[in-house]
Amino acid sequence: MPVLRVALDLPLHRLFDYVSEAATAADIGLRVRVPFGRGERLGVIVEVPAESDWPIEQLKPAGEILRDLPPLPPDFFRLCDFASAYYQAPLGEVIMQALPVGLKRLDPPDRRNGRAGKKIAPMPRPELTAEQVAAIEAIDPSAGFSAHLLHGVTGSGKTEVYLRLIERALAAGKQVLLLVPEINLTPQLEGRVRARFPDTGVVSLHSELAEAARERNWRAAFGGEASIVLGTRLAIFTPLPRLGLIVIDEEHDASFKQQDGMRYSARDVGVFRAHQLGIPILLGSATPSLESWANAQSKRYSLLTLRERANREASLPAIHILDSQRLVLKEGVSEPLLVVIRERLARGEQSLVFLNRRGYSPVLACPACGWVSRCKRCAANMVLHLADRRLRCHHCGFEHGIPKSCPTCGNQDIHPFGRGTQRLEGWLQEQFPEARVLRVDRDSVKSRKQWEGVLERIHGGEADILIGTQMLAKGHDFPKLTLVGVLGADSALFSADWRAPERLFAQLMQVAGRAGRAELKGEVIIQTQYPDHPLYAALVRHDYPGYAATLLKEREQAGFPPYAFQAMLRAEGPEMSDSIAFLKAAAALPVIAEHENVIIYDPIPMRMARLANLERGQLLAESHSRPALQAFLPAWREAIEGLKAPSKLRWHIEVDPAEF
Ligand code: ADP
Ligand code: ZN
Ligand code: ZN
Repeated sequence: MPVLRVALDLPLHRLFDYVSEAATAADIGLRVRVPFGRGERLGVIVEVPAESDWPIEQLKPAGEILRDLPPLPPDFFRLCDFASAYYQAPLGEVIMQALPVGLKRLDPPDRRNGRAGKKIAPMPRPELTAEQVAAIEAIDPSAGFSAHLLHGVTGSGKTEVYLRLIERALAAGKQVLLLVPEINLTPQLEGRVRARFPDTGVVSLHSELAEAARERNWRAAFGGEASIVLGTRLAIFTPLPRLGLIVIDEEHDASFKQQDGMRYSARDVGVFRAHQLGIPILLGSATPSLESWANAQSKRYSLLTLRERANREASLPAIHILDSQRLVLKEGVSEPLLVVIRERLARGEQSLVFLNRRGYSPVLACPACGWVSRCKRCAANMVLHLADRRLRCHHCGFEHGIPKSCPTCGNQDIHPFGRGTQRLEGWLQEQFPEARVLRVDRDSVKSRKQWEGVLERIHGGEADILIGTQMLAKGHDFPKLTLVGVLGADSALFSADWRAPERLFAQLMQVAGRAGRAELKGEVIIQTQYPDHPLYAALVRHDYPGYAATLLKEREQAGFPPYAFQAMLRAEGPEMSDSIAFLKAAAALPVIAEHENVIIYDPIPMRMARLANLERGQLLAESHSRPALQAFLPAWREAIEGLKAPSKLRWHIEVDPAEF
């Protein structure tokens, strides 16, 4: 009787065998209902092996094989195999996370009629700049796999390069996968793609789509009716029969990294996928990740550069550093910054004050006894939100009302300390009563609809002073915005996280890039206590390559990635002592001695040691050789699976960890 080997969505590194009378190898890649425990589950057939490792009479018969979809193709399984092995993730989980929820239901509603996007009026193509032409010509789709890093300053026309490459791939009958960090932050891009290719099926795939829409779009992509797939990181696993090009926009963005479940980097999976298929991949950014930049420097990726803004009337903004130690600050804002905001107001132009901290103030405190508003579930402070009168933990979401007096000593005079966007909003409105002040952060903009409304207001000139977090930093073109003021950036300069300067530089480059995108000249003012810091000096020069070289040298000297390869074992449970004891046991496993090219560090509490009532520890494994680390990880993981742990303790391995 034929055997079916089935992948199930379980945290187990194994597949499950069943028997099925009529099954053949042609069923590989189809979904199947199978009995499991006392119930039934839906899985994917990954193999129809000649025999099972189990006695055949012990195998249960599989249920119905679903034939509403064509089988998932071999290249899909190869990609999942790679991700499973590379990230130490169970193959069943990898395969199942690639499918939309609707296709994983035992009793799926019928949604077979896929429909690709609606039509809109076409948009003309601009004449390319010489740099754009050179970038496009450097990519030869007939040459098989090639990886390219498109480094272009903000507004240099990277998107136009993507559009032309997409056009070329479509003309060759191919599908294109265009990944963006967060779909909500890029409604303009989606509009541009649809307007450029009005007769082409364009679908988006991201987690905010309703279940039915996501399934419909996924089916259109898998069925080949949609030729352009615009998605967030989860779209990287979508099976696409004619995939000919992968583009990853804002490739440095942290949201390409999945931080729970299977912890993967969609950018890295993308490079692997392109390699497997023998197609080009283009990574674009004004501030590439240091990993990609190092790959370009070592010629593993080709480097394509756009130095000038595409719109000939627009120039890069002048960046000025204000030494805040020499200035009198009111509510954290210096007089010179107020002066230039006033100038903009008088000219009818827009200003953006960037403060990457939402809420009214980061903490409420009692000056009499030293009480501060701590989250009782996390090693973090509760943030004061005056707009809805709550104290809220930004890490676990726990919240409650504002105490009228100090919970410890009863003092009625408790104070907000520090500044967030709400406080700045109120204060700036007082300074400029005639101005229309608009705050843009995750508290004021929660849905995509609200976001589109906000963008419309800004474009329509209905706001004079914008106060924004990183939400406003990315990818937007606001023609009237000519001033960006940056507050409170210093705290990231000396963070314990060694990736913080890289992120801060990228963020400030991006937000600076919002100024002066059109004919009006832009100006950026950064208020800092460290005016001589090399990060700010490089910003003033718009010198990404220079700063990247500095950071890479530091990383090389310290032996950090990309000059070392890392995996992090994390354990979390109700007690830190249990978490650390578990990690100590993992650090003492005999298998470690067999892999002398891998170093295991000491277990330590995570930087944020307590999150949502869980005490978290971590243990770093590192090697100077990626293959050595990859050879070590499966053996180590298996040995860890054999360790005894308290029942409430959870652990996982993250390969190429991004946060510490
Ligand atoms: P980036 O993606 O690098 O930030 P965009 O592709 O959004 O840049 O281009 C910035 C602006 O320049 C857009 O308004 C775009 O329409 C315009 N643009 C792009 N390429 C050209 C070109 N070759 N000629 C004129 N304008 C262009
Ligand atoms: Zn007190
Ligand atoms: Zn919390």
